[in-house]
Amino acid sequence: MYDIIIVGGGPAGLTASIYALRAKKSVLLIERYMPGGQVVQTGKIENYPGFKSIDGMELSNLMFEQASDLGLETIYSDVIEYDINSKIKKIKTYDGTFESKTLVLAMGAVARQLDVENEKKYIGKGISYCATCDGNFYKDKVVAVVGGGNTSFEDCLYLADIVSKIYLIHRRDEFRGDVHTLQKLKEYEKNGKIEFVLNSVVKSLNGDDKLRSVVVENKLDKKEREIVIDGLFVAIGRRPDTNLIQDKINLDENGYILTDENMRTNVEGVYAIGDVRQKRLRQIVTACSDGAIASVDIIDYISKNF
Ligand code: NAP
Repeated sequence: MYDIIIVGGGPAGLTASIYALRAKKSVLLIERYMPGGQVVQTGKIENYPGFKSIDGMELSNLMFEQASDLGLETIYSDVIEYDINSKIKKIKTYDGTFESKTLVLAMGAVARQLDVENEKKYIGKGISYCATCDGNFYKDKVVAVVGGGNTSFEDCLYLADIVSKIYLIHRRDEFRGDVHTLQKLKEYEKNGKIEFVLNSVVKSLNGDDKLRSVVVENKLDKKEREIVIDGLFVAIGRRPDTNLIQDKINLDENGYILTDENMRTNVEGVYAIGDVRQKRLRQIVTACSDGAIASVDIIDYISKNF
């Protein structure tokens, strides 16, 4: 029996574990792939205080090392069932069922797909949702990035040093990504490294055993254009990973978990932190903040209820 089970080892989950472990609570982290969550897929991070610039993987490793040194237990497995209505929470995974006094949901969010025919067929055969993970497969090749937010911008900056040309396909001509990064991309546009394909949506994905081209439609004049590429990086946002728990907990209309200011959900002893929670700003620094707040409340909850 653990004091706390945390599902998801991103900055939110790791910070929660650090605060709880320092208060001598026992913590089990259940992580699907590797600690760090989306941060692992981020190239350079330049807005996390204390580091002018740090690699996402490096920051994740530092957080995980800090938690592990304090005594964090980690299993790498997928949760397959949540039993959360009793005082003791039971979390079933492919590697056994674990019990705890409290549960912290920190599963983050998963990449949104384009929902265009053949998308699934070409995943890993030309389509990727993580430039930092797969960019190196496209050395000196031509790629396209879809999206208009900060992730698509960062993907372009990362890929610019690797590939020969990038088409940035965005469905509008205004961006969500920050102006400062857009200026950097405009520099690349001057030498032809990046071409902006604006007001355009991907209509089809074509190829044989590998993706060879995309057809985009200009939303203004309805003209279609085929762009020959070797790889397509889809960076159109994320959706919360809450399918498994959606019938057991209060969510908003987009599937994000609703909490109060102490990160409590509507189920006693169950907390939600980080990107999986309904909130305005999803950043590393706000994920860490959620984790700290949740753990402080949990420590209090355990002392009063167990
Ligand atoms: P985002 O900000 O939600 O942007 C998603 C982009 O994809 C939008 O431009 C959107 O277009 C487009 N899009 C959505 N669905 C689409 C579809 N079906 N087809 C075509 N285009 C579609 O997502 P994000 O870029 O992943 O960023 C998520 C959050 O993380 C943001 O708050 C961002 O600032 C933050 N982030 C921060 C950093 C950093 O600070 N270093 C780095 C990465 C991400 P519309 O604009 O037309 O809606």
